[in-house]
Amino acid sequence: MIYARFEWRGSVRYGRMRSAGGTRIEVLMGNPIEGDAALDGRAVDAGEVRMLAPLVPGKIVAVGRNYGDHIAETGMGAPVVPRLFFKPPSSVIGPAEPIVYPGQSRQVEHEAELAVVIGRTARKVSPEQALRHIFGYTCGNDVTARDIQKADGQPSWAKAFDTFCPLGPVIATGLDPTGLDVSCHVNGTLTQHANTSLMLMSVADLVAYISAAVTLEPGDVILTGTPAGVGPITPGDEVAVTIAGVGTLRNPVVSGSQ
Ligand code: MG
Repeated sequence: MIYARFEWRGSVRYGRMRSAGGTRIEVLMGNPIEGDAALDGRAVDAGEVRMLAPLVPGKIVAVGRNYGDHIAETGMGAPVVPRLFFKPPSSVIGPAEPIVYPGQSRQVEHEAELAVVIGRTARKVSPEQALRHIFGYTCGNDVTARDIQKADGQPSWAKAFDTFCPLGPVIATGLDPTGLDVSCHVNGTLTQHANTSLMLMSVADLVAYISAAVTLEPGDVILTGTPAGVGPITPGDEVAVTIAGVGTLRNPVVSGSQ
């Protein structure tokens, strides 16, 4: 099933679609991620609504250096332990919303990533049980002010700016997270292309590792790391992250220092 969140007739609603790329949205009452949604009985066309980020996340936990080819391009070694950091919920934007290039940076980069949406509270779960706690998957872009990251020595601040966490366009349930194609285009040119089978820590291992220390709750998001091909974006660009079974998340880049 495909879940969307959108603005319709002045209110924010969730809806569901039969397939990614579908246009008919069945309107829901309640929040499907929290398990309390029911059909409203009405349906709308995707063209009649303004699509929003497919959820309002709680925590956003992200992992760095989770693909071997990206580790190689960073010039850093493979991490001894998972490199986890947090992005604030205030950094989230939805499809078609602009990534604002901050005046503090001269090197903002895209990072296409599979985003995991938690659906059931996970505390100290095993890798074998981990996937049962996942609601679904969406496209994420772990936008990073790379110059600030390098100067800072830790990643959180450089990845925390407003608009630096595009998510969407929808949440797909029932996917196998171990074999999804992830790609990124900037202005139509392919910059990143990999498969989640190449992750060093699988989605199940990440949920287990994180939940051993930090309880994951419905609506929390895990960004699972980016493959090789990260690179600069500048005002005027359009960044598009595509994940098989989910669709394409497109965001323009605009200047924040006008
Ligand atoms: Mg990242």
